[in-house]
Amino acid sequence: MSSARTYNSVVLVKQVPDTHNITGNVMKNDGTLNRSALPAIFNPEDLNALEMALQVRERYGGQVTVMTMGPPQAAEVLRDALHRGADRVILLSDRKFAGADTLATSYALTGAIKKLGDYDLVFCGRQAIDGDTAQVGPQTAEKLGIPQITYAESIVSLDGDEIVAERALPLGKELVQCSLPCLLTVVASANQPRPPSARKRIEYKLAATPLEYRSLLKKWPEFENEDVLDAYLTKRDLKLPLWTTADLDVDEEKLGLSGSPTQVYKVNFVVLESTQSKEIPANQEGIAALLQELVQEYIVG
Ligand SMILES: Cc1cc2nc3c(=O)[nH]c(=O)nc-3n(C[C@H](O)[C@H](O)[C@H](O)COP(=O)(O)OP(=O)(O)OC[C@H]3O[C@@H](n4cnc5c(N)ncnc54)[C@H](O)[C@@H]3O)c2cc1C
Repeated sequence: MSSARTYNSVVLVKQVPDTHNITGNVMKNDGTLNRSALPAIFNPEDLNALEMALQVRERYGGQVTVMTMGPPQAAEVLRDALHRGADRVILLSDRKFAGADTLATSYALTGAIKKLGDYDLVFCGRQAIDGDTAQVGPQTAEKLGIPQITYAESIVSLDGDEIVAERALPLGKELVQCSLPCLLTVVASANQPRPPSARKRIEYKLAATPLEYRSLLKKWPEFENEDVLDAYLTKRDLKLPLWTTADLDVDEEKLGLSGSPTQVYKVNFVVLESTQSKEIPANQEGIAALLQELVQEYIVG
């Protein structure tokens, strides 16, 4: 590997409703999700995307910047990313982003990545577990005018401005080479995301965006007002950057609901009820018979 250069990565992550833990009405009257009725989690494959970016930094050096577009509470996934090793995080939050479909989401993210500049790799999860479209990654690459490697399972090499990566396809693996900058969508089988570090949890305990100041002042009355809190956090590099539409060179008509040709009409959560049960003897034969049945039914394997 002749290349001594470092690689700067941007990781796009999404806070998603934990569809396994639904409480209350999930839909608002305007057809958008009632996110407060759903506990929120880090989109699983975005953790694999972050892990791949962190491994690139460990191998070649460079910076890992994590971005998310979402409501104020989406800052939670940014703190989680810092606890796992991200160097920098940015929250894109503005009422004008709300209700965005994949077209409007990728447009806003493209505007933010262009503002950031100086990137070599953009990492996304293959898919978000709520919209499930797997469209944002490819759309963002298209808008940035850069090549894309989807279903990426590993980076084989980075050499100068060239990347070789392996894709996980239904019928096998595919090796792809392309020039940088490029965008990768990462699959769950790519790696085992590292857990948050206890030391970083303590280090970033107070980290917050300005959108969280009012609620934090209730918890920390020792800070007289938002300006004092802002100064305190800024001095300690704990103020998390917030970008609104005013910070981006974008056409507001292409953002949020107004920029979304697709609108979610209704979301039904299907709960699969078991119709019959079967007792499995707790021994080798029993387990072997169960596995065979699951394979025959195409449930696993
Ligand atoms: C049930 C449901 C169905 C929907 N159906 C559609 C539809 O058919 N068409 C449509 O256009 N929209 C649809 N939407 C809206 C869509 O969820 C949003 O546009 C969303 O922001 C992006 O689409 P996605 O969730 O499918 O993400 P995907 O395209 O599956 O996400 C892929 C990757 O892109 C990145 N990413 C996605 N969203 C963000 C974000 N906000 N911030 C940072 N990175 C991000 C992540 O790395 C993620 O892993 C649907 C939403 C819901 C809840």
